[in-house]
Amino acid sequence: MSALRLAVIGGGISGLSAAYRLRALLGGSAVIDLYEACDRLGGTLKGVDLAGTKLDVGAEAFLVRRPEVPALLAELGMASRMVHPGTLGPRILARGTLESMPRPTLMGIPADPAVVAHLAEPADLALMTDEPRRPLEWTRGQDISIGGLVAERFGRSVVDRSVDPMLSGVYSARADDLGLRAVLPALAAKLDAGSASLTAAVADLIGAASGDGPVFGAMSGGYQELVDVLVERSAAAMYTGTIVTDIRRGETGWLVDGIAYDGVVCALTAPAAARVLDSEPDLSRPLSGVDISGSAVVAMAFGPDVVLPELSGVLVAGDETVVRAKAFTFSSRKWPHLAGHGALVRASFGRFGAPVSDIGDDQLIDWATSDLSTVVGIWGGRGALASIDAVVQRWPAGLPRYGTGHADLLADLESGRPRGLVLAGATYDGVGVPACIGRADRAARRLVTDLTD
Ligand SMILES: Cc1cc2nc3c(=O)[nH]c(=O)nc-3n(C[C@H](O)[C@H](O)[C@H](O)COP(=O)(O)OP(=O)(O)OC[C@H]3O[C@@H](n4cnc5c(N)ncnc54)[C@H](O)[C@@H]3O)c2cc1C
Repeated sequence: MSALRLAVIGGGISGLSAAYRLRALLGGSAVIDLYEACDRLGGTLKGVDLAGTKLDVGAEAFLVRRPEVPALLAELGMASRMVHPGTLGPRILARGTLESMPRPTLMGIPADPAVVAHLAEPADLALMTDEPRRPLEWTRGQDISIGGLVAERFGRSVVDRSVDPMLSGVYSARADDLGLRAVLPALAAKLDAGSASLTAAVADLIGAASGDGPVFGAMSGGYQELVDVLVERSAAAMYTGTIVTDIRRGETGWLVDGIAYDGVVCALTAPAAARVLDSEPDLSRPLSGVDISGSAVVAMAFGPDVVLPELSGVLVAGDETVVRAKAFTFSSRKWPHLAGHGALVRASFGRFGAPVSDIGDDQLIDWATSDLSTVVGIWGGRGALASIDAVVQRWPAGLPRYGTGHADLLADLESGRPRGLVLAGATYDGVGVPACIGRADRAARRLVTDLTD
């Protein structure tokens, strides 16, 4: 058999880890071409130089309680590059004050009113206390927005001040815009299995959660070092600055803008994948139904006179009005390896339904500095701040929205998948970097099985 010819479309972590896995499975003889629209690789993984320090302005961390990133780093001989946050935790900005994080919760959903007593309205705490006694109407297999479910059972203030701050940070969308079945499948399964109340279902899942040691990790030199090693080890031909417009079936395999391949990994965001797969309506139709949440990160460096709160960051409640940012990461406080370079802060803006695409860079920097001054003032520090360096990084197609019905849409995609074409990316099995790596790995293995069985 002649050497397989494979194309990977998209040079984010999904495309790069798929290319690496294909190389590991197929060896040196396979032809692997990777196409990336931008002139740099990494997609949402990007570092910038900020006042002489390298700071990630897209993804900055990964869950280490999931196996994918630690396993990949070990395989690549990079385990020693992994670092962990220090001991400081975040707070929630709610009702104009900095409140402690509610714990324990399932992505902000508590199973005990005492956990959110400092955040929720008294009427909602009473509603929550009574919840196990109120009948729960649930149809097996149904989907519902997380915000709708929690507001009905526990009250709106629990959604705004406990669930929204957690979900907004991960999904760039409020709980009202996120579907239970795609975002919290284990909770949907508990309700399907007949849990008597939301309290009981959440309590079961919190009780089952385990794990010691750090929850998060990061790369000591930023995500770019993982990108660089994947590029090298995949030994793929990298066609950067190349926008793919069409993937279609050829006489034997597939055509990528007319170039013949045996198989293709499409590792794009859902709207981009829908466009290039126009000739495959069973795929492009569901993909075009996935919304995108755009966002922006303002990374700022401050001089030694600025003292940040002793916190890893601040999550902002959905009903908070004193700031426009949805979250702050105090990077130089959170990550010991970033300490000693002055105060480094990431302020995040924008979520599904509240885009910041029309807001100019200068305006975003003004908002970020004045919002940070507000937070520092609430903490008891000095008010007005001025950064010595600031970078605005926009992510217009940052994250797919896992809305209600997203899980059904994914099932449609699975049934419509033709041989020799696999889909990878944040749209499918989770939005985090570990989930993207896991999906890309499985996609590469399926493609090899398709082509060699
Ligand atoms: C601001 C932000 C912060 C985040 N923070 C974290 C975090 O801390 N931890 C975490 O685990 N996750 C985080 N995430 C999520 C995670 O970073 C992303 O889900 C993940 O990086 C997506 O990778 P991907 O390769 O699937 O897609 P992308 O990174 O979007 O890559 C897709 C690539 O395809 C290219 N492309 C598009 N169209 C074409 C075309 N027609 N032809 C060729 N190429 C094309 C794009 O230019 C892009 O490079 C964050 C996301 C955002 C937006």
